Amino acid sequence: MQRNVSGLMGGEGARCAVMAAQNRREELSAYAQHTLAAPVSFRGVGLHTGQTIAVTLSPAAVNTGIRFIRTDVVDRDPVVRAHGEAVCQTRLGTVIGNVDGVTVSTIEHLMACLCGLGVDNLTVELDGPEVPIMDGSCEPFLAILDRAGRRPQQARRRYIEILDRVEVVEDGKSATLCPADSFEVAFEILFDTSAIGRQRVDLVVDEMSFRHDLAASRTFGFLSEVEALRAAGLARGGSLDTVVVIEGDTILNPGGLRRGDEFVRHKALDAIGDLYLLGAPLLGRYEGLYAGHGLNNALVRALLERPDAWRFSAPHEALAQAV
Ligand SMILES: [Zn+2]
Repeated sequence: MQRNVSGLMGGEGARCAVMAAQNRREELSAYAQHTLAAPVSFRGVGLHTGQTIAVTLSPAAVNTGIRFIRTDVVDRDPVVRAHGEAVCQTRLGTVIGNVDGVTVSTIEHLMACLCGLGVDNLTVELDGPEVPIMDGSCEPFLAILDRAGRRPQQARRRYIEILDRVEVVEDGKSATLCPADSFEVAFEILFDTSAIGRQRVDLVVDEMSFRHDLAASRTFGFLSEVEALRAAGLARGGSLDTVVVIEGDTILNPGGLRRGDEFVRHKALDAIGDLYLLGAPLLGRYEGLYAGHGLNNALVRALLERPDAWRFSAPHEALAQAV
């Protein structure tokens, strides 16, 4: 009997030890760089070209970051690295390019997803000039990345820790980074239509909040803008399946909104994607007031020009040592 009791206690103790070891492995894993566990492919329509584009996401080596490769480009360098200084246009989404003039458009939602899920290193091959818009949100990308799975790599993740306030202001709009213990995003918008009005979001961004609070929020636009873009030969892939369209005070999409404040949540998502062009996850607070991709990129560049305002850091240094 006595032996049984001590045996039970021993079993419990062993189980606790196994759980503790597992928790520690998971904790350690959070500080390791990550890539995908396996390649994954998908197809979708480009928002601006209307072209169906095939995309393959593949695991990449440590410290390579996010690289786009245009498989349809044969006469020039097809590789476009995702970093803040590669941004060459921001009027209709974020476009990056290389010195040969090879570009990849509408990268922000995929980049936001990679940030939200903590994917550090990835190769994105695509046979056209644009990342597909999918349903205008990050949810389809989440499903694709979840299908591939993620794996930790044998290198520590570096964070960009904000040490001092950096702000860019233009025409009453602003984008700011300031010190914080985690990655926080706050955004405020005001539109002169009752379909949107004033909306505000303020949250700590981690995988859980990204999945549940931001990922489903879709791109939006006004009917007049969409028509003007179409007339200019753009937004060919724009439809009620890919964009929330507003006319006056009315949402034209038959299914309506996914959440009442879907608009500001999408702006937060855009900012996360634009900030991930810094090349590492952030330890700091972002605040956007009516900001768009242009101002977000100006903020990224302003930070990179202020080496005193940030540093690379590995949080919980002692834990990270063991990775
Ligand atoms: Zn967007």
